[in-house]
Amino acid sequence: MKTLVISDIHANLPALEAVFDHCGPVDAVWCLGDLVGYGPDPNECVERIRAIPNLFCILGNHDAAALGQLDLAAFNFDAQQSTLWTQLTLSQENKKFLLNLPETRTIGQFTLAHGSPHNPIWEYVLDTYTARVNFQFFNTSYCLIGHSHLPLSFIQASEITEVEMRIMHESQTLALTPRAILNPGSVGQPRDHDSRASYAILDTETLQWELKRVHYPYEIVQERIRRFNLPDRHALRLAYGW
Ligand code: ZN
Repeated sequence: MKTLVISDIHANLPALEAVFDHCGPVDAVWCLGDLVGYGPDPNECVERIRAIPNLFCILGNHDAAALGQLDLAAFNFDAQQSTLWTQLTLSQENKKFLLNLPETRTIGQFTLAHGSPHNPIWEYVLDTYTARVNFQFFNTSYCLIGHSHLPLSFIQASEITEVEMRIMHESQTLALTPRAILNPGSVGQPRDHDSRASYAILDTETLQWELKRVHYPYEIVQERIRRFNLPDRHALRLAYGW
């Protein structure tokens, strides 16, 4: 089964549309959370995701914040501004969709968690130590995560071996062996100094994980962020991928 794996869309509709156009036909879509926050089109993005027939989606920290479930003090000032605007902008129907998202999901050999299987809402997996600890918190062969906005893979060949960390590049393919923690990067706010939307194609039968990148017109998103008086930093960063 060819599965599109996306994460951290952050209300960036042109990036999401570019990914859907670029990925070709898929059998299913797995979305690892943070549909909203930072960007100017939260309703459009949630509606686009909601309409996908073969969808598995989980909750991210920005989705929870948009529902008023998190203390805003946990965010920096710019993120607070964008969260308050998102809370006021999201329709009731779209809030209801986010409200029903689980924090984790298991699909066959795969566990889905936004931050980490240990702490799905807040924890970042950015180093081999954190990854190693997290291998104890899921029972499946593989765990798919988002949250860091970086296309990373962590591979553990056995309980006693060290975890190997890799930064994945465009068109790089991994033949998956148990066990691994994989991040497809961010659709709507990449942070690896590459402005292109990041996503992965997973073949659940051949167990191939391929990282993909696609250009999108970020100028349109920058213009809309400014039109709604959202923090300019969230517009500027899109051009640089940070
Ligand atoms: Zn995010």
